[in-house]
Amino acid sequence: MAGSRGLIVAIDGPAGSGKSTTARLLARRLGYLHIDTGAMYRAMTLKVIRAGIDPHDHECVSRLAMETDIRLEPPENGVRVFLDGEDVSDEIRMLEVTARASLVSEIPYVREILVRAQQDMGREGGVVLEGRDIGTVVFPDADVKIYLDADLQTRALRRHREMISTGIEIRLETVEKDLGARDAYDSEREHSPLRKAPDAIITDTSDLTIDQQVDRVEALVKKLIESETDTNQ
Ligand code: C5P
Repeated sequence: MAGSRGLIVAIDGPAGSGKSTTARLLARRLGYLHIDTGAMYRAMTLKVIRAGIDPHDHECVSRLAMETDIRLEPPENGVRVFLDGEDVSDEIRMLEVTARASLVSEIPYVREILVRAQQDMGREGGVVLEGRDIGTVVFPDADVKIYLDADLQTRALRRHREMISTGIEIRLETVEKDLGARDAYDSEREHSPLRKAPDAIITDTSDLTIDQQVDRVEALVKKLIESETDTNQ
């Protein structure tokens, strides 16, 4: 279902599978918009934390979500996330947000409004969306569906390296344990769990460099763009 501006590319997968970097670089190479849906769930989580609300209280969080404005703006250097007009792009990466994001994102009303916003942003095409449910729920008719995966140890190593480089002191074992728990939570929840779409192309990134990952996905997308151009001629 390519829109007037180009294809809809869906990239799903667990944390640390290389989704964000792949989606960002791929979008840049193609001149597409990068939509980081995880950042939207994180922004909602930040608001819940700031309001001092228990994320298990679905009713209270849903009421808060009703009066929340979350926007993504793609400037030159990556996506910025705005929560009620405030740039929270750095704050949403805090450990406290990461730890609670799965609880907030399983609330049906939160998903309903954020999925709608993601569909509005992506409908015209020319987008690379990344998340957990893009190929299954947000755009089940996406032109390209990629499921990126990697073994838990590799993902934990990558995430650990990333955290240390941004000054977060944390043990590798803690990162591995947290990732494993988040995977389980995101995969087993009732609404829109992390799942491979039956028609997704599965790429195991454990032994691939980021450049190799992006090259592989880009080749797939370009092949599709070419075949679309051929059929339209
Ligand atoms: O992708 P990222 O790790 O930033 O996502 C943070 C959390 O947001 C995930 O652990 C997951 O619970 C939730 N999420 C989701 N659906 C998406 C994207 C993220 O439930 N499409």
